[in-house]
Amino acid sequence: MPAVDAATLRRMGALAGARCPICRKSAGPRPENPVFPFCSPQCKLVDLGHWLDGGYRVPGPPVSSTGDAETLESKGRTDGLDGNSQEEDE
Ligand SMILES: [Zn+2]
Repeated sequence: MPAVDAATLRRMGALAGARCPICRKSAGPRPENPVFPFCSPQCKLVDLGHWLDGGYRVPGPPVSSTGDAETLESKGRTDGLDGNSQEEDE
């Protein structure tokens, strides 16, 4: 009598490995597959190519230059000087 049936073997296989996100072939389990979750180095390169093309670009705020803080500071200083010189009347 067999210790495990085909269904159990298939389930064990699903747990041990994963499907390659590029070609949908079954990829080997992590310990013995250096390119996990891909099935082969080729598929890993294809995925890397998608990143470099900008297909997987992560949205985020644009990186601003350091000039912003300086502009705000000089604007505030100008306003303050104008108000003081007009109110000073003894
Ligand atoms: Zn693949």
